[in-house]
Amino acid sequence: MDAEPRELMPAKNKTVAVKTTDATVKKKTVAAAKALAEYVRKRDFTKTAEPRGSVRKSARGMYLIQKHRASHLHYDFRLEAEGVLKSWSVPKGPSLDTAVKRLAMMVEDHPVEYGSFEGTIPEGEYGGGTVMLWDTGTYELEDRVSWREAEKKGRLRFTLHGKKLKGVWNLTRMSGRQWLLIKSRDAYASKDVDITEAKPRSVKSRRLLAGIARDEGGDVEKAATGDPTPK
Ligand code: MN
Repeated sequence: MDAEPRELMPAKNKTVAVKTTDATVKKKTVAAAKALAEYVRKRDFTKTAEPRGSVRKSARGMYLIQKHRASHLHYDFRLEAEGVLKSWSVPKGPSLDTAVKRLAMMVEDHPVEYGSFEGTIPEGEYGGGTVMLWDTGTYELEDRVSWREAEKKGRLRFTLHGKKLKGVWNLTRMSGRQWLLIKSRDAYASKDVDITEAKPRSVKSRRLLAGIARDEGGDVEKAATGDPTPK
């Protein structure tokens, strides 16, 4: 496996940087560039502060959720696998209630470097709005299956070791890019706690969306619509 991070060429340049003529390495490099091609194509890195990133493995399986007030509020659920952050957009966010199935739309792979991003994306750019690091930690895949096998089957069962989310969770594919995020029955399940309402702040900065927008030149009023209404 490639241990070294590999820089990707700009999206408009169709060629890929290959420092060796070895066919296997070349094949892997092309696959790596493809993995983030959609991510790179959608963004203008001269305008957004989001990281360009590269395909690489971190020391442990990363788990994180970014709360994102873009054109619509959603929670970006990310699990590190195959050198990238596999990503789902969850409009309503996670629920600790085992009876609740939350729609999770699979979106383009993100670079591992994206996992620490919090800030604003300029309006008019892809995903324009405010991004909060809502939860971070690690995860382990259950059932002794490989990621590849589990994703292909559309059945990912994993344990989260996050600051907010813990215990066993499931991502189950319905069709195409549509998956469901469902909590398994364990000590961390709850019918009473709405975790998105109870824990609305950033795990990185303790800020609400409005605070992030205020500090980083974003649209404060728009960001605030994603924060819980004061009671
Ligand atoms: Mn998003």
